[in-house]
Amino acid sequence: KSHSHRRYTITLLPGDGIGPEVISVAKDVLLLTGSLEGIKYDFREMLLGGAALDATGVPLPEETLSVAKQSDAVLLGAIGGYKWDKNEKHLKPETGLLQIRKGLQVFANLRPATVFPQLVDASTLKREIAEGVDLMVVRELTGGIYFGKPRGFGTNENGEEIGYNTEVYAAHEIDRIAHVAFKIAQKRQGRLCSVDKANVLEASMLWRKRVSAIAQKYPDVELSHMYVDNASMQLIRYPKQFDTIVTNNIFGDILSDEASMITGSIGMLPSASLGDSGPGLFEPIHGSAPDIAGQDKANPFATVLSAAMLLRYGLGEDKAAERIENAVLDTLNRGLRTADIYSAGTKLVGCKQLGEEILKSVESNV
Ligand code: ATP
Ligand code: MG
Repeated sequence: KSHSHRRYTITLLPGDGIGPEVISVAKDVLLLTGSLEGIKYDFREMLLGGAALDATGVPLPEETLSVAKQSDAVLLGAIGGYKWDKNEKHLKPETGLLQIRKGLQVFANLRPATVFPQLVDASTLKREIAEGVDLMVVRELTGGIYFGKPRGFGTNENGEEIGYNTEVYAAHEIDRIAHVAFKIAQKRQGRLCSVDKANVLEASMLWRKRVSAIAQKYPDVELSHMYVDNASMQLIRYPKQFDTIVTNNIFGDILSDEASMITGSIGMLPSASLGDSGPGLFEPIHGSAPDIAGQDKANPFATVLSAAMLLRYGLGEDKAAERIENAVLDTLNRGLRTADIYSAGTKLVGCKQLGEEILKSVESNV
């Protein structure tokens, strides 16, 4: 999208549980940041998940997908809740989430793990190890063992029951995720670590070969390779060594959850899912938190930071993204906390009030 337009259509999918509460805050933050940075938004609020099931009978209405596809980016709250837990698979809210990821053809999942200086003690690691961690896991999302064929149940030559899956990667699937990862590393510290199991798995051998070849196009990025067993140790031993990590679907699933526990603050972590040309999907990593929904207790920071990722990785509006990230730091510096990140000596506020405080920080920051 050309920068001269500076007008974007954003699909908002509040979803269920705390989703609407945190999306409302993120929308206000986008609007205010936009007015300060010369960006205009047309918001389209659509149904997804349980909310869509109740209203239309399906978790992803056709209209939601078509509006999402036509927009410049999609911001999602959270999906699911007790109410629909016993539904059949095709009538589960979570099915709507899988369907929209598929519909938007997003193959790159970005999950930063940032330890905010004000929240170091939430980390599961020792302070001196956690302090200053700021890494990004880029996970391939649409290939690998979760989708490879053949798969299924059967019997082996002894008549014993078996289950089997297949790890497959085609060259183009590796190449496109590698390009995304190198470009992200360029925007960050310029270091990319590709994680694989190339000592054992053929799919990983091809992965390493293709990633190494693509590195030639990014001379400003320093590429390293690591086996996944070592990477899972290094993440706990000395996470500061990592800037950007790129890995396949299953390794990324595991490593991104491991990385999130370094921060220990589920309410602070955003994510982005990107495709080739269409809109990206941006959402907090936390779920719908039905235990606190409707109580004004939700931490909106993860969704606000997802909105910042939307600006940086979805629209190329880096300056506006930075303004939001600085506002989050400023709000934390002023000691304002929701219950999930509260500690002695800080000020406990609800979701709405924290939202208002973030807006103040957006205004006051330059
Ligand atoms: P899902 O299956 O939808 O991913 P989940 O069971 O994995 O849900 P979450 O919904 O993410 O988990 O919630 C896990 C715990 O963290 C809950 O106790 C919830 O209240 C808390 N939690 C999650 N997100 C937030 C948030 N934004 N603010 C405050 N607490 C949160
Ligand atoms: Mg979950």
